[in-house]
Amino acid sequence: MTKLAPVLSAHWDEKDSFTLEGYKRHGGYKAAQKALTMDPDAIIQLVKDSGLRGRGGAGFPTGMKWGFIPQGDNKDHYLVVNADESEPGTCKDTPLLMANPHVLIEGCIIACHAIRAKHAFIYIRGEVTHVVRRVNQAIADAYAAGILGNGVDVVLHVGAGAYICGEETALLDSLEGFRGQPRLRPPFPAIAGLYARPTVVNNVESIASVPAIVMNGAEWYQSMGTEKSKGTTLYSLSGHVVNPGQFEAPLGVTLREILDLAGGVRPGHRLKFWTPGGSSTPLFTDAHLDVPLDYEGVAAAGSMLGTKALQIFDETTCVVRAVLRWTEFYKHESCGKCTPCREGTWWLVQILRDLEDGKGTEADLAKLLDLCDNIMGRSFCALGDGATSPITSSIKYFRDEYIAHLTNGACPFDPVASTLFVGAGA
Ligand code: SF4
Repeated sequence: MTKLAPVLSAHWDEKDSFTLEGYKRHGGYKAAQKALTMDPDAIIQLVKDSGLRGRGGAGFPTGMKWGFIPQGDNKDHYLVVNADESEPGTCKDTPLLMANPHVLIEGCIIACHAIRAKHAFIYIRGEVTHVVRRVNQAIADAYAAGILGNGVDVVLHVGAGAYICGEETALLDSLEGFRGQPRLRPPFPAIAGLYARPTVVNNVESIASVPAIVMNGAEWYQSMGTEKSKGTTLYSLSGHVVNPGQFEAPLGVTLREILDLAGGVRPGHRLKFWTPGGSSTPLFTDAHLDVPLDYEGVAAAGSMLGTKALQIFDETTCVVRAVLRWTEFYKHESCGKCTPCREGTWWLVQILRDLEDGKGTEADLAKLLDLCDNIMGRSFCALGDGATSPITSSIKYFRDEYIAHLTNGACPFDPVASTLFVGAGA
């Protein structure tokens, strides 16, 4: 792997990296000063040219999204930052906000200037109280220093804690004070988003990537990553590894390379399966160690880059149990708006529980796949589709393990050894 200086995590090891002084010591807010002298369309073009793609999971080109906002429409425009991080395994925005909240605020100022918005809203989970406090302090310090309030206002909105509010239109409903449920599209948020006004919804990491692009240029950003997936990004490594944590690397790095940085799978054990982008992305196995972790490479291998949440499981983990745990999460977090997801995830859990207990039959496996087929592509939003991914992929790669539960009449794994995240190096 080519060694590159970290961009997003450059000064996370400094004690005061999260303070205004710490941020300014390394040139913080100079990018915003520069951007405010630029034509807004030039900033949009710069971000387009950089190749930056949304880091929230979908990988949509950020500059193109900004370019969809109608100009000269005499309407208020809004920037909404999605900080509602809650996919199992995903933990990149939380450490970023703890270590450097000002880079997000600076990114908000630049993005607002580009899309001609005066207000940015940061939507964050209520459970992460320590992050809420840190971001609130950073916003207060930016106001006190006159950085905010001179054309751009930033509001931190604390959500009540629902996974579905990470879906951009459910997030907008929640922000408006309604129950968070996905909206029918079109109209898309760029035309009718928050309060029915043109709105850009971007992930924390996407907006935090913008100041460095403004300072260093599109060519610099393009020089990192792969042909269609540019720049560096945060990979979150968790589970059965020696040193779990966030690893910043150019897009296209492989799991083998990241595991090298993290000290490998815990001693005496071997990789069994892993998620490339969180629990809603199809599983990979040790056969996928050299898949380039960019949008195209992961898709070509049959999964999705998602939020780059690399959850590592060794051979002590029962895959059926792990998938059951994720499915229970999706059943709990289903917002209930559409039948395939609301009813389907409930049935998925019932069948998986029986299978894990060794009480099911082979017909249940077929029923499970049939249910997944009826949820996938028939649900109102991506939560339903995502709930099926670990199930179908685990049956594809570990069908024998499902069958072993049935022939044994119980889980063949030692109950202690199969407990998730045993020896995770925490
Ligand atoms: Fe709600 Fe699930 Fe339907 Fe999405 S797929 S709208 S979360 S019920």
